[in-house]
Amino acid sequence: MDTTIHDVIIIGGGPAGLTAGIYAQRSKLAAVLIEKMAPGGQVLSTNWVDNYPGFPEGIAGFELSERMRQQAERFGLPIVADEITGFSLEGPHKVIQGVERPYRARAVIVASGAIWKKLGVPGEERLTGRGVSYCATCDGPFYQDLEVAVVGGGDSAVQEAVYLTRFAKKIYLIHRRDQLRACRTLQEKALTHPKIELLWNRVVESIEGADQVEALKVKDVSGLEVETLPLQGAFIYVGIQPNTDWLQGTLHLDAQGFIPTDDRMATKVPGVFAAGDVRKKMVRQISTAVGDAATALLAAEHYLENL
Ligand code: NAP
Repeated sequence: MDTTIHDVIIIGGGPAGLTAGIYAQRSKLAAVLIEKMAPGGQVLSTNWVDNYPGFPEGIAGFELSERMRQQAERFGLPIVADEITGFSLEGPHKVIQGVERPYRARAVIVASGAIWKKLGVPGEERLTGRGVSYCATCDGPFYQDLEVAVVGGGDSAVQEAVYLTRFAKKIYLIHRRDQLRACRTLQEKALTHPKIELLWNRVVESIEGADQVEALKVKDVSGLEVETLPLQGAFIYVGIQPNTDWLQGTLHLDAQGFIPTDDRMATKVPGVFAAGDVRKKMVRQISTAVGDAATALLAAEHYLENL
């Protein structure tokens, strides 16, 4: 049995986790990053990143993730593939239970990110992977010259609707209000694009189709009008939910499951910090995830020095 006690364990390999890893290695801490999938996080499924400084022409989400991973590995960060299922704070060290084995550390940085929320309408689960998608970057090319819908009105929905114009011949952008939540630049792109039709004040009632998506039933929020839109793809972008199920009962979470921290990214448990989308905060951007992580790691280092 491996009884190594790390200085710091970083949970999650998105921009926050990888940044914490870079800072940990540069501080010569004994660190390990644990990620259940490929490092990169949600940015991997973001087609294009236009607002991360240092890339004047923008950069593909996949490439940005890959560069962060390479930078962390250049400093020698060990990256382990495992899924964390539990967390014990009893005893002198934090014990993190993985599917493969337990890990021990003096400090922990939780950077486990968030996943796309489901819409929760009939047909969504059954037709996922058969026309229902949460990743335009992955599935967009299958919709060449077809008609699709994007559901949501935030940055993700609008950004991915614009991306889908490369393939689909028509994109319905379905939003439950009469105003988009997305930033102005994205709004302008969507509102002026000839392939995008905004359907305001509409909610999806159901996703229809035998083996593949064939139509969306869409209701006016006043509840008076229901229409059926024949189309082949439905991309759902109605927000995110934090990856914190495994923390229930051990760490204080807010009503949505996000982790509250102070301005040092410290949770209520000494030695446990949170960074990135999993943290309760106002702005979720790659740049804010990176900033959280630098703060969290330096605060963790300070905590370790004072143990
Ligand atoms: P979000 O900002 O929470 O937006 C979710 C959208 O879905 C909102 O427009 C919301 O409507 C709508 N919605 C929620 N539940 C719904 C339901 N049940 N039925 C229909 N519509 C529903 O989520 P996001 O767009 O995924 O963004 C998440 C975070 O990542 C944000 O902080 C965002 O700024 C950031 N992000 C940034 C970029 C960028 O900078 N380029 C790109 C992607 C994401 P209401 O508006 O009515 O609430």
